Amino acid sequence: MNRHRFSTEEISIFRRSLLAWYDIHKRKLPWRDWHDIDTNIVAYRVLVSELMLQQTQVATVIRYYETWMKQWPNIKSLAEASEDDILKCWAGIIIDSIFYWSYFFHLGLGYYNRARNLYKCAQLIINEYNGEFPNELETMINRLPGVGRYTAGAVSSIAFNQANPILDGNVIRVLSRMRCIGSDLKKKSTTDFLWSLATDVVCPERPGDFNQSLMELGATVCTPQKPKCNECPVQNQCLAYQQQKEIESILDIEQCSANCSFCLKSSDVDTNRSLVEHYPRKKSKTKQREETSFILIIYRLTPKLEFLMIKQKQSNLLSGLWSFLEISSSKNHLDQMNEQKRKTYIIEEIQQMPTIDTIPSINNIKLAGQCRHLFSHIDKQYIIYYTHCEQNDVLIPSTSMQWFNEEQVQTSAISTAMKKVFNVALPQIKLKTSNGKKNGTIDNYFKKKNSKV
Ligand code: SF4
Repeated sequence: MNRHRFSTEEISIFRRSLLAWYDIHKRKLPWRDWHDIDTNIVAYRVLVSELMLQQTQVATVIRYYETWMKQWPNIKSLAEASEDDILKCWAGIIIDSIFYWSYFFHLGLGYYNRARNLYKCAQLIINEYNGEFPNELETMINRLPGVGRYTAGAVSSIAFNQANPILDGNVIRVLSRMRCIGSDLKKKSTTDFLWSLATDVVCPERPGDFNQSLMELGATVCTPQKPKCNECPVQNQCLAYQQQKEIESILDIEQCSANCSFCLKSSDVDTNRSLVEHYPRKKSKTKQREETSFILIIYRLTPKLEFLMIKQKQSNLLSGLWSFLEISSSKNHLDQMNEQKRKTYIIEEIQQMPTIDTIPSINNIKLAGQCRHLFSHIDKQYIIYYTHCEQNDVLIPSTSMQWFNEEQVQTSAISTAMKKVFNVALPQIKLKTSNGKKNGTIDNYFKKKNSKV
């Protein structure tokens, strides 16, 4: 018997122990509150929660999920919404005075493709499935945008009671530790093996609860650091725990034959960490690409302060979101330019932008400051400039270009990166306007703003 697999007897004890623990210890989460509800709505709720939970912590997701469900409680209402409203909700913005102020501390859920995919899923289900959530695993994977094997497994097991497995970070951690899988997670053979383990253990009688109990164990007990093994309901079946207890020498780690591809290698052991924490073997981090962009914020007084914003194209990283004018550069390029050359470069690039039909005469741009934002794969530095647009300059608003007042900027679908940019530039722009002149200094501006909050 391969020690990395569960025996039939172990599977049955594992299911029983884990489900009994889950029935008592599961956290009360809003997306778990679905008893006596139509399966179509349960599937929708699981889909929304699972997509929100990708890359985002449970504690953060709760508020977004509840806000989302208030606005779009079912597939039909979501399909009829506007993409702009959906992106706003994803960005943590809603027209509600309490939420408006909390916006300043909320960074949004990020990874906006998840929101767009939810929207596309709702439209597809309404148009092609007559509003009925498809219940076959393969259909979900092949037809629903943004739905992969993991999400389809969660929806089919939780909403439709089908014995399909799931494998997310929490489940990988629990299974790797229980079966001492110490091979590289980047290898297909490792993930294939973990999927096969997840398939072996899923409980046919309560697949949804079982899958959630696995995730719950990984999230609350079998945590990446300092797992609470003494509180673990499956401790007796956990090979990593037993290995940690019994081990006399790190040379004993490779317990299978020397050429077992799943065992952790002795050379991988770091004696400063507990043994269980070595599973799963960490993926080597891919370094984020460094990028630099110039931002130009064009403002005008009508007499209200307004800012020019452009809707990002579909192919763009932040497609569908509103943004200030952005010009890409590189570190080398930046280093070669002095301040005056940078300004000339920005003006020339703006004049050539195809999105702007009628360009205001830009000739006096000022540096506001810099900020940095980390995207999943990009470490981005923004160098922010601003300039005033004269009343006589004509800029015709269109679907892809609009003037927004300050409140509209704060409550529109803009990315977290652009919120940071705006917050750097706004105090300086205010100082340039009549509002700013009255107050005199940036410090005074902030004093006044803070006293309002
Ligand atoms: Fe995780 Fe510890 Fe439980 Fe093993 S005994 S599954 S390492 S919490």
